[in-house]
Amino acid sequence: MDEYNKKLNKNKIPKSKGVIKRDFKLSNFTWFKVGGKAEVYFLPKNINDLVNFLKSLDKKIPLKILGAGSNTLIRDGGIGGVTLRLSKNFSEIKYLNNEKISVGAGLNCTKLARNCASKNLQGFEFFTGIPGTVGGAIKMNAGAYGHETSDFLEKVTTVNRVGEIKKYLRKDIKMSYRKSSLKKDEIIIEALFKGKKGNSAIIKEKITKLSEKRKKTQPISLKTSGSTFKNPFKLKAWKLIKDSGCSNLKKGGAQVSSLHSNFIVNHGIANAKDVEDLGNMIINKVKKKFGIKLDWEIKIIGSKQKYRKYFNE
Ligand SMILES: Cc1cc2nc3c(=O)[nH]c(=O)nc-3n(C[C@H](O)[C@H](O)[C@H](O)COP(=O)(O)OP(=O)(O)OC[C@H]3O[C@@H](n4cnc5c(N)ncnc54)[C@H](O)[C@@H]3O)c2cc1C
Repeated sequence: MDEYNKKLNKNKIPKSKGVIKRDFKLSNFTWFKVGGKAEVYFLPKNINDLVNFLKSLDKKIPLKILGAGSNTLIRDGGIGGVTLRLSKNFSEIKYLNNEKISVGAGLNCTKLARNCASKNLQGFEFFTGIPGTVGGAIKMNAGAYGHETSDFLEKVTTVNRVGEIKKYLRKDIKMSYRKSSLKKDEIIIEALFKGKKGNSAIIKEKITKLSEKRKKTQPISLKTSGSTFKNPFKLKAWKLIKDSGCSNLKKGGAQVSSLHSNFIVNHGIANAKDVEDLGNMIINKVKKKFGIKLDWEIKIIGSKQKYRKYFNE
């Protein structure tokens, strides 16, 4: 047996009360609907299960965290090691008083906005139409219509790579445009938010208006991951892309959306390479025309070729 296979034999998948699948197709768990498989896909049953799994997982095994996959492009070769997603068991909302809520990180942001509206809690309307989870929103500091996740966040509970539960106050986390300082393998499990007491009917009306606005300006019913690139300082990525002649630019089954030029859509036959190549074509065209290098907002993970194996059972 060679050295590589000897090492593989040492790595056992820790036991769990949740769901563990091997060589598991991930494309249905991203909004682009492309990408390869996870060597090990793990849905923890609860916090204890997650903590125990991480404590037993060899520290050299890579761990990736997926939320709703609405800001993620998984490459066609898939992901070696463990890919973790929080199940529905991590999506509880607890109303602590008229203004404060504790929320599981697996909860969908639109559901959070609607739930708060029905309980007269205002502030979270901007989450309407952001199709990610609360965990993804904190990690990305998601925002829309003048508000960001950081505006309402008070505390975050995480589990780190070695299975320790950590609690952070908002002031201990650096949050800026589409980014936060939490480590990339630190799993957000719960958050405390503060809103304002409001009127349910008024909040619901605002939500309806924002949803209508989104429908008119973004291809939300298509396979997309939202804004592809971050807006450069004081500029709009969509305008730079449009003015560089990228409107309707195509690569395979991936195309620049005709409704919003900072969105890439998969017409159903794209693979991850098409999407990534199209993004790189856009970067080159914008750089050539304006001398500005666009930064991906979308997180690109996984390998181009079949993933490297870390387990051998
Ligand atoms: C139609 C559409 C519209 C969109 N509109 C907006 C918008 O208006 N504003 C905006 O900001 N974004 C928007 N997005 C992008 C996306 O919805 C947000 O970035 C969202 O916050 C991502 O959440 P997610 O759960 O899907 O994260 P994923 O895409 O699954 O992951 C994104 C990042 O968050 C990390 N992550 C996810 N969950 C956790 C967790 N529990 N703990 C630690 N890290 C975690 C991942 O590791 C990854 O680094 C849009 C996307 C689409 C498809």
